[in-house]
Amino acid sequence: MDKQKFDVAIIGAGPGGYVAAIKAAQEGAKVCIIEKNFLGGTCLNVGCIPTKTLLAGAQVLENIKHAADFGITTGSVSFDFVKMKMRKDVVIEKIRKSLEGLLTSNSITLLRGHAEFLSRSELKIRGEENAVIYADKVIIATGSAPLDIPAFPCDHKRIFNSTSILELTQLPKTLAIIGGGYIGCEFATLYAELGVKVIILEALPTILATQGEVIADTLTRSFTKKGIGIQTGVFVEGIDQTEGGLSIRIKDKPPLACDAALVAVGRKIVSGNLGLEKAGLSISDKGAIAVNDKMETAVPGIYAIGDVTGKFLLAHVASHQGLIAASNALGKERKMHYNAVPAVIFTLPEVAAVGMTLEQAAEAGLDAVIGKFPFLALGKSIAAADIEGFAQIVVERKTGQILGAQVIGHEASTLIAEMCLAIAGELTIDCITDTIHAHPTLAEAWFEAALLANDTPLHFPPKTKRA
Ligand code: FAD
Ligand code: AMP
Repeated sequence: MDKQKFDVAIIGAGPGGYVAAIKAAQEGAKVCIIEKNFLGGTCLNVGCIPTKTLLAGAQVLENIKHAADFGITTGSVSFDFVKMKMRKDVVIEKIRKSLEGLLTSNSITLLRGHAEFLSRSELKIRGEENAVIYADKVIIATGSAPLDIPAFPCDHKRIFNSTSILELTQLPKTLAIIGGGYIGCEFATLYAELGVKVIILEALPTILATQGEVIADTLTRSFTKKGIGIQTGVFVEGIDQTEGGLSIRIKDKPPLACDAALVAVGRKIVSGNLGLEKAGLSISDKGAIAVNDKMETAVPGIYAIGDVTGKFLLAHVASHQGLIAASNALGKERKMHYNAVPAVIFTLPEVAAVGMTLEQAAEAGLDAVIGKFPFLALGKSIAAADIEGFAQIVVERKTGQILGAQVIGHEASTLIAEMCLAIAGELTIDCITDTIHAHPTLAEAWFEAALLANDTPLHFPPKTKRA
């Protein structure tokens, strides 16, 4: 076998791995990236991009449904689900090709195969390429995969996970979604918009439990209005195949009949079959590789980034960790900071959050207030007939420092960027109220929310009528 030598080798070409590779190449290193499957990893192939491509179609359908509100007559509207799926496949293929081009233009060697450690600095690759390579520094970016539950394994015919459901070409009439986290909620939005009768079964007291009570309540109300069934505090124990369908077994409750089920109960970390022990590395109970804020593992010269570190399981976190790991691997000291990590949920309405909720601020012993502005009071929202939701800022009372922000509504995914910058820059609400926000835009909601935190709103009544 050949033994090529690299300054940096990266295992896994997801959003963590390929970004780390580009950064290392920019720093002048000789870089290789090893991928056993498709370039782009979970995010491009079975995660962020396919779901958002399908959801973009659902959004078009939703807009058409409301065309009459704008005086537009459309006649009867139909859609071709196979074509929607094909469009998703075309989008993925197009981005995969651009990624390959990016690697080439950065002179990064792509080795297609499964990598495993032979020692701290030697990797064996098996697959399309068969080689043993030597690398001065190694970055592990092997990601995660859908979690299988032994009590109800996926048959990928009626019981799907988030990967296999993306290959559906025929819509079921009824779909039970087990797990009301962000993946379950995004798929609920998609299929409900396409006319499937969806029911979410969630063990915790609310859907989107990590986003705090106010967001969970608002989304629950919105989903319910759209006809999405939600049962919370219910634990799915098993799924039985019936003639032509499924029967979901729920603890202490009658079973639920449906045509198909989506298991969206979490992710498992991919760290097996990597020969980690030969490199001197160990993993946690859940398979995560422990790292410090420089993305260094316990073994000098080996770094880990992205889902395999078990930290946030978000593409943008993986990519940022990739930048940090590549810089440190090449002698430029940089640290990760997690105080301003945005989380976006692409439901309709969208949800986005960064920093602390009011509850988290209280738990941290901080005296905080909120400024909450509803979109129904905003000119741009009324003009666009999109008045659902609100933007709220969590502010430390004494200093005015912005601690967190949550937004639910149209374009929440884009709006959150202003608050990410504010929190990363440790800004106060005065910085928001001193900034001129273009009119009429949805971003004015932040300006008004900041004013509301001081009880000086312009387009909303003050808490108490002025004397
Ligand atoms: P991955 O993207 O999982 O990539 C790891 C790569 O390593 C894979 O290509 C794999 O084949 C390869 N690999 C593994 N082991 C080996 C080996 N031994 N040798 C060679 N190659 C190997 N995140 C967001 O931020 N926004 C979203 O909207 C979003 N939506 C999502 C929707 C769904 C349905 C899912 C499932 C996930 C979503 N995510 C989203 C999460 C996001 O996809 C992941 O956080 C992100 O892909 C993690 O990146 P990564 O580089 O750590 O790993
Ligand atoms: P996430 O971890 O964000 O992907 O969300 C997964 C969700 O699935 C969590 O909110 C869990 O509470 C939920 N969950 C896990 N197992 C079950 C189960 N057996 N029945 C119902 N909900 C579950």
